[in-house]
Amino acid sequence: MTATAPDTADAADTSDAAAETAHFRFFELEVLRTRRLGHSFLRVTFGGGSLAGFRSGGFDQSLSLFLPPEGREDTVLPSTDEDTWFGAWRGMPDEERPVMRSYTVREQRRTPEGADEVDIDFVLHGDASPASRWAGRAVTGRRILAIGPAVAENKSVRFQPPATADAIWMYADETALPAAAAILERLAEGTAVRAWFEVPHEDDRLPLSTAAKADITWIVREGTGRERADRVPAALRSAEVPTAEAPYVWLAGEAGTVRATRRHFVQERSVDRRSVRFTGYWRLGASEEQLLAEAYAGRAPSEEPSSEL
Ligand SMILES: Cc1cc2nc3c(=O)[nH]c(=O)nc-3n(C[C@H](O)[C@H](O)[C@H](O)COP(=O)(O)OP(=O)(O)OC[C@H]3O[C@@H](n4cnc5c(N)ncnc54)[C@H](O)[C@@H]3O)c2cc1C
Repeated sequence: MTATAPDTADAADTSDAAAETAHFRFFELEVLRTRRLGHSFLRVTFGGGSLAGFRSGGFDQSLSLFLPPEGREDTVLPSTDEDTWFGAWRGMPDEERPVMRSYTVREQRRTPEGADEVDIDFVLHGDASPASRWAGRAVTGRRILAIGPAVAENKSVRFQPPATADAIWMYADETALPAAAAILERLAEGTAVRAWFEVPHEDDRLPLSTAAKADITWIVREGTGRERADRVPAALRSAEVPTAEAPYVWLAGEAGTVRATRRHFVQERSVDRRSVRFTGYWRLGASEEQLLAEAYAGRAPSEEPSSEL
């Protein structure tokens, strides 16, 4: 086992482990400040000397956070050595083991004073869930550990449209809105984008900045009676989508909705399934521990086999 960022989405993928070793490593992140962005979003800005070696690849760059268990302030791991951390972490008593969760690097920047900062936008979805609870109580000076990118070209940047793509079609729920916002910021001027963003509340429709030619539809969940996984395909079905020869489709959010949305694009809009990058960021009713357990048992929970379509 190596220090490869073990996102739930990638947990079963250990094939190129050796090559990945240099791509990811542990970083200590210190909370500098927090800012409420909308009804559901809290931005936590991290700093700390170890960020000097942090190299976000941008777009939907993700990382794995290790949060202290309930009742502790700091994250303690017996080992951050790339060959031994995983066994040491798994072997810790439940009440002491830091909670591992996947998040997106919303932005990495260097301040005029030369300090490195990283923003992570947390969805606050209740105090019963460890990461949401930790973020809601984050105060300046709190420290956590993360496995993050040490090189900008790494496999936790999943948004990889081919040069031949003539349009980008996107779906993100609130957990993937930070990734979608970061993708939009980096797209070349005039890129044709059609996007659907699903959020829990009206004021979660965060301002987005892009040079792309983006047509964005917000789907506000509040007050809609439809079944969760059906809501988005229903909105897509009735949507005008400009014709494209070679669209690249990027989908991320709740696993059931992502699966239904992928099916819509492949079956109803005849998109080549190889042009669809889809990732379940979470699954209704399952904690990330449960998803990881499934992944390590040999089944990636968030990327369904294409034969299911
Ligand atoms: C690559 C990747 C990038 C991600 N980036 C981000 C990001 O930038 N910001 C972000 O907020 N999330 C992001 N997520 C999703 C985040 O990892 C999950 O939401 C995670 O489950 C949160 O951990 P938790 O401890 O709060 O809840 P868990 O303990 O994992 O789950 C507890 C319960 O809460 C439910 N649940 C989990 N998330 C939500 C939610 N958002 N709303 C409602 N119920 C939920 C679960 O189904 C479960 O029933 C990302 C996930 C991946 C795989």
